[in-house]
Amino acid sequence: MRRIDQATVQKILDAADIVEVVSDFVHLKRRGTSYLGLCPFHNERTPSFSVSKTKGICKCFSCGKGGSAVNFIMELEQMSYYDALKYLAKKYHIEIEEHEMSAEEREAANKRESLLAVNDFALNFFERTLQESNEGRTIGLGYFRERGINEAMQKRFHLGFSPEGRTTLRDEAVSKGFKEDFLIETGLCYRTDRGTVHDRFRGRVIFPVFTVSGKVVAFGGRTLRKDKDMAKYVNSPESVIYRKSYELYGLYQAKQAIVRKDKCILVEGYMDVISMHQSGVENVVASSGTSLTEGQIRLIHRFTENVTVIYDSDPAGIKASLRGIDMLLAEGLNVKVLLLPDGDDPDSFAQNHSSSEVEEYLAANETDFIAFKTRILLEGSGNDPIERSRVIQSVVRSISMIPDDITRTVYIGECGRSLGIDENVLRLQVAKYTAERREKEARDAERARNRVAAGLPAEPDQEDIVIQSSAPVRQAEPAAKPMNKFLIPYERDLVRYVVKYGMMYLCDCQIDEAGNTRPMSVIEYVDCELNNDNIVLSDDGFRTVFEASLRVASDAWMDDWTRFSAELEVKRAEMLREGTERIRTSAADLSNLDALEQKMSEDVAEEIAAMADDFCQRYISKHLVSAIDDVVRTVSTDLVAHKHQLSKIHTKYAKIATERERLAELVPHAVYNLKEALVECDIRNVIENIREACKVNDIKRVEQLMLKQAELNEIKKELARYLGERVLSPKR
Ligand SMILES: [Zn+2]
Repeated sequence: MRRIDQATVQKILDAADIVEVVSDFVHLKRRGTSYLGLCPFHNERTPSFSVSKTKGICKCFSCGKGGSAVNFIMELEQMSYYDALKYLAKKYHIEIEEHEMSAEEREAANKRESLLAVNDFALNFFERTLQESNEGRTIGLGYFRERGINEAMQKRFHLGFSPEGRTTLRDEAVSKGFKEDFLIETGLCYRTDRGTVHDRFRGRVIFPVFTVSGKVVAFGGRTLRKDKDMAKYVNSPESVIYRKSYELYGLYQAKQAIVRKDKCILVEGYMDVISMHQSGVENVVASSGTSLTEGQIRLIHRFTENVTVIYDSDPAGIKASLRGIDMLLAEGLNVKVLLLPDGDDPDSFAQNHSSSEVEEYLAANETDFIAFKTRILLEGSGNDPIERSRVIQSVVRSISMIPDDITRTVYIGECGRSLGIDENVLRLQVAKYTAERREKEARDAERARNRVAAGLPAEPDQEDIVIQSSAPVRQAEPAAKPMNKFLIPYERDLVRYVVKYGMMYLCDCQIDEAGNTRPMSVIEYVDCELNNDNIVLSDDGFRTVFEASLRVASDAWMDDWTRFSAELEVKRAEMLREGTERIRTSAADLSNLDALEQKMSEDVAEEIAAMADDFCQRYISKHLVSAIDDVVRTVSTDLVAHKHQLSKIHTKYAKIATERERLAELVPHAVYNLKEALVECDIRNVIENIREACKVNDIKRVEQLMLKQAELNEIKKELARYLGERVLSPKR
């Protein structure tokens, strides 16, 4: 197994800024202390994906996915823990030592990684062929030059050329140790009827398709021959790593410009994207050949809400793509449309105009979709009333797709004015379409629920058979043991304190008869209390996290703390020196110098103590939310992300103190609540047993059990008393 040493892992985790990492994939907006964006893990129109810089985690409050930076990358890019670390290391320019993979290791690496590796190799091969081989330079480069694509764009889009030879790519790949199976699975090669393996893209210029994060998942190849029976474009087939309807050509290169301009321009082909980039308009992507899909729209929405669709003036093509507009509207995007002058496509237009001309044209000619759609549809219909009413209905249907009430109302007004129709009539019609769609959505949701209950994925794939709602519904997950379930909230509460505040000071504990004390941390206290009563947490997840916390607290803590304290001492000395100097140079009255210095040193002490507290507070969670163990990582992330509600009574009557300030009260409370719950469990068990014993008239056993019950009740009372004393009841 490939390994990265622990020190480097820590370096990577320390460097990874969750806001920066997530921002590469999701457009985040600041909301108070955290950041908010559209969740990349599920389909949504209103943001519920929250990122906390200070906690170092992200979390979707709808679907629950998220975690540390590592987790986020693992989940989103379907990477292993080590690959996610490597990704972050690369992002933060941290060097990791990794040895070249041996043949066995390459074999062992999972398929996904192998396919990506094969594509990576091919990317390099095609690029090299274009730039360095005779064939590539004359044919491939000749073509790109003729199309006016400069060298910078060739590099930026990693354009390439695939040689004419039948097996040139295959031979080189196999000699480098790549398996033929993977060449076939990625679609770089195919098996002929006679069983030989040939290159798919022979003699074509190559347009690699990158994911948002910059991995090559597919290639598009354009032939340069005038041959009529040869397909102009050949594309990689779908594979484990490539789902056509979830990728947009150029997004990787365009995403920053899209965020910067808060707008995404949609065009059709590879060359359109490249030429627009070359002309300086970089917020451009293409659905490349396929009609726009929901997956692609969602991808855009992660970066901006504003989309401009560019059409070349081919009426047939436009009519066919109008559905795309409705889909964009339905996703809650603001849609503008732009028609190019007759005979131009984005590629030729960008090639024939300067970048400022292109920008100016865009700004001056964007129109909203209603005016556009009306014009396109009414064109050629003359004054045919039936045709006209059909057009109006179609426009109104588009408007009804807009999820936002205000935007929808604005468009209804607009539409009424431009078509000369009473707004109330339009409003009624919109309401009718909306109702129809809601009904359909409800039916779909019902179907999805049934699918989940039947153990199938919620969303059927395109070719998947839709299951009727009368399909047999499998029994849901077997319920957790009832007693377990009863204890879970108490265990969660306790472990949450350990993860969030474990290394913080809780109280002093007596260590000898003489009354000497030493400080005790939250985790120490909890561990001690649980040990004293032989309590083992019943929930597997919480127990694992608790044990992991104990390990973190004992393993590296002392060294880390010693190092940090030394740093703090240096800092303190520096602050004191600066403070003293400041006072001496600026004090107006020398008589109160002492008092000023006293005050200053108190302030410094306070600041240093706060830094120490912060270090302690973050210590355990920082380790756990990025831990290699899946359970530790996910459960601890949930605990850290969990918004704790202070109880109503406290907020109503008492001064609201933060959780952190009230640990001395809250942590023991959590411990004793759990103990009380355990006793309660025992009591319920005993009562159940008494009932059983009564049934069979086992008087002796009933007596025993009743004694036991009395004993438990005593303990319970004692615990309650303890809780009553410990908890500072709010002053009324
Ligand atoms: Zn989500």
